[in-house]
Amino acid sequence: MLRNRRNWAAVALIVAAIGVTLVFTKSGEESIGGHWDFQNSIEAMEVCRIEMLTIVADTIDIYTSTIGDGFLGGAVRELGISGGQYLSTCGVLMDSLGWNVQRAGDTLTATYNHGQLSELRAYPGNRRGFYRILFSEGSPSLWEYVPQERWIRQRAISCDISTTVWAALWDTALPPDLTESGILVSSRDSSRAVGYISELQRALTDRLFVYDIDFYYDVKVGDKLWILIEENRYPMDGETGFRRILAAKYQFAHGGIAEAFPFFHRPEDAEVAEIILDHYHRDGASLRTMFLKMPVPYGRISSSYSSGRMHPVLGYTRAHRGIDYASPMGTEIYAVGDGTITVRSWCGGYGNMVRVRHANGYETGYGHMNGYAAGQSVGGYVRQGEIIGYVGSTGLSTGPHVHFEMKRNGEYVNPATEIMPPADPLEGEELSRFLSEMTVIEAQWSMLVGIDLPVPDPEVEIESDTDVQTESEESAE
Ligand SMILES: [Zn+2]
Repeated sequence: MLRNRRNWAAVALIVAAIGVTLVFTKSGEESIGGHWDFQNSIEAMEVCRIEMLTIVADTIDIYTSTIGDGFLGGAVRELGISGGQYLSTCGVLMDSLGWNVQRAGDTLTATYNHGQLSELRAYPGNRRGFYRILFSEGSPSLWEYVPQERWIRQRAISCDISTTVWAALWDTALPPDLTESGILVSSRDSSRAVGYISELQRALTDRLFVYDIDFYYDVKVGDKLWILIEENRYPMDGETGFRRILAAKYQFAHGGIAEAFPFFHRPEDAEVAEIILDHYHRDGASLRTMFLKMPVPYGRISSSYSSGRMHPVLGYTRAHRGIDYASPMGTEIYAVGDGTITVRSWCGGYGNMVRVRHANGYETGYGHMNGYAAGQSVGGYVRQGEIIGYVGSTGLSTGPHVHFEMKRNGEYVNPATEIMPPADPLEGEELSRFLSEMTVIEAQWSMLVGIDLPVPDPEVEIESDTDVQTESEESAE
C-alpha cells in the first residue's frame, strides 16, 4: 500500500518561475537590439526542468498508507515512522487532535524532506478536511484540523406525501448538484444520495418533529411538507452535502400544521461564545423536551435501573444506578440534552466515559465508550443529539453497550422515570426578536417556494377533508 510520488506541483511552480524569468530577461534584451532565440530558451528551460526534477526527487518524498482494519499504528509504521516518533505521532493524532476512531479506508500521507519527516496528514474518510502535524527536527511542533473550503447555501423543497416521508424526500429533496456530474453514475454517487436523504429524514423525524409528529401513525397520503434546507457546497470536488434543516412545515390532509421556526441565539449556560440554532413553534415554545429518551439511535435495554443486582463481572450484588443499552460496537452515542462536558476520560469500571452537566441541576454520564467524538474537550458545550462518542466495551463490561446514568443535584435518579421537562420557551426580548424574524423568514421562504405557505389559523379548526383540499389547491397554485 506504499506509494511514492514526486512533488510535481512544486516542480511545475519552480519551472514556471524560471520560464517567466527567462522570457522576460530575453525579451528585455531584444528590445535593446540583442538577439533572442526562442528555441534556445525552450532548450534552456528543458535543461532547468530536468535539473530541478533531479534535485526535488532527492529532497522530497511523499508516502501514503491506508488504514486496513481500523488500526492506526500499522498505517503509521507503513510510512516509515517508528520509535519515539511513532509514539509522539500516534499521541498527537489520538489525544491532542482527538482522532480516536479510525476506519478502514482512512488514509495517511507523510512528507519527508531530505529524509527527515516534515509533515503528516490524516484524512478521515467520513469527514471533509484533514488533520495535519508539522514536524520540526523530527518532533511534532504544530498540529491542527484543516476543514475543507465550503459554501453554505439555502434551498427550499416542497413534497406531497403519497406513500412514505422517505419516498417523498427521495423524489423531491436531492440537490441537482449532489455530485460533480449531476447524475448518479457510480455506486459512490448512489450511496451519497442515500446518505443525504437519510440525514435529512433523521433530522426531520428523529430530531425536529420527534415530539410533534408520530411518523408511523400520523402520516397520511395527501399530507404536504415544506422544508428550508441548509447545505454545504464543496467547490473543490463539486459536491453538495446536507447541513441542517432551517425551517419546516408539515400540513396534515386531515387538518392541522406542525411548524418549526429557527432562532439563532447564545445559550446562557454556554461557556463558549457560540451562536446556536434552536427551533420553536409559532408562539416561541420550544420544539424540544429537555432530554432525549435514550442516548443511542437504536439499542435494547440490557439492564435497567435498580437498587441491587448481581454484577456480571464482579460477581456480587450491587446497585445499578443507570440504564444499559446494548448496541453494536461503534454506534453513535448522543448527548441527551444541551450541556457542558465535565468528564471525558477513563473512569475505572466505566471505561472511557463522558459526563455532561445540564441546566436545572442535572448531569448525565455515558460509560464503556469505544472512542470519543473528534473535536470535543472538557468545558466544551454540546447540543442535544450531538455525537459525543461511540459504543464500546471498555472498563467492566461484558459486551458492547452504553451505560447511561443521570443525576439530579448530585443524587442518582432513574432516567426512565425522571420527569422530562420541556426546554425553555422564548421570553421577553428574545421572544419579540423571534416573532419579528419569523415574519421575515416566512415571507422569504414563501418567495423561494413560489407560493404563500400555509399558516395555522388558531380561530378556525379545519375539520373536514373537503376544506383541506380547497385550501391545498389554493395554496398549491
Ligand atoms: Zn451499566
